[in-house]
Amino acid sequence: MQLTDDYGRTIKSLRISLTNRCNLRCLYCHREGDNRELKNESTAETFVNIVRAAKELGVSKVKFSGGEPLMRDDFEDIIRALPELKDISATTNGTYLEKRAQSLADSGLNRVNISLPSLSPEKYRGVTGGDVNTVLKGIDAAVDCGLTPVKLNMVLLKGINDTGIGDMMDFIRQYDGNVILQLIELMDFRGTSGYSVDIDGVEKFLESRASEVRERSMHRRRKYFIDGVEVELVRPIDNSHFCANCTRLRVTSDGKLKPCLLRNDNLVDVNNKEPQEITGLMKFAMGNREPYYKG
Ligand code: SAM
Repeated sequence: MQLTDDYGRTIKSLRISLTNRCNLRCLYCHREGDNRELKNESTAETFVNIVRAAKELGVSKVKFSGGEPLMRDDFEDIIRALPELKDISATTNGTYLEKRAQSLADSGLNRVNISLPSLSPEKYRGVTGGDVNTVLKGIDAAVDCGLTPVKLNMVLLKGINDTGIGDMMDFIRQYDGNVILQLIELMDFRGTSGYSVDIDGVEKFLESRASEVRERSMHRRRKYFIDGVEVELVRPIDNSHFCANCTRLRVTSDGKLKPCLLRNDNLVDVNNKEPQEITGLMKFAMGNREPYYKG
């Protein structure tokens, strides 16, 4: 059985926000499209039941996000309790990875995306409030523990990091293909439009340097192979392909199904429910699912 919406989009992956808490304050953060002030986080059991239900409906990939997913002390327990899946990943700011990469890998996490807007300690602190050295140690730990390929998520910010793409490519070269650079177009959730970068210009820059360009079916993302490194460009804004190829169902940290990153008026509560009931509610949520950008 599969979960397919009225637009023919079949759900293949879950993106689960484990918490809204975070130890950093990234000036651009979209908080996975959930700006509610949440006090109650769902239990590990609820998240595991959601994954069990989704697996029955053909979902084979799960990505954990937040907030910062490593703020949950029971993250390893959650991963260990999951049914067998094709891919279990997390997107993290990397600041706790030096300590926990090994336990996460031992629990069954396959790979991580790590947010890194800049290599410069000053710029990194200015954008996130944190210490870039903790992230650099986290990247090394993730690679050493086999949480690969590690994707470095660099949200592009005009006047801050848009001239640092070349440095970031040079930085990942040392990891011999175990680290991929993912350049992400800024989505303006909090009055940050002044930082928006001309993405066509970035695309031309990458094209001019690439020895090979490939297109992924997911969101029609382009991958560029440049001097031994791999760079992906994620363009979510006004991108009807982004929506037309969206095969994700989101879950909020308080246990609600969220059919679209950009909407909060169609959430479906599955907190504290058994897998069988969640399966029915997932089918119901499909009725509320439509592309935000229709093209
Ligand atoms: N704390 C974790 C982290 O830093 O990866 C997980 C939460 S963060 C919201 C998840 C991802 O969303 C990160 O890769 C981040 O780069 C991306 N992101 C956050 N705000 C964004 C925005 N305004 N536009 C585009 N991507 C954004």
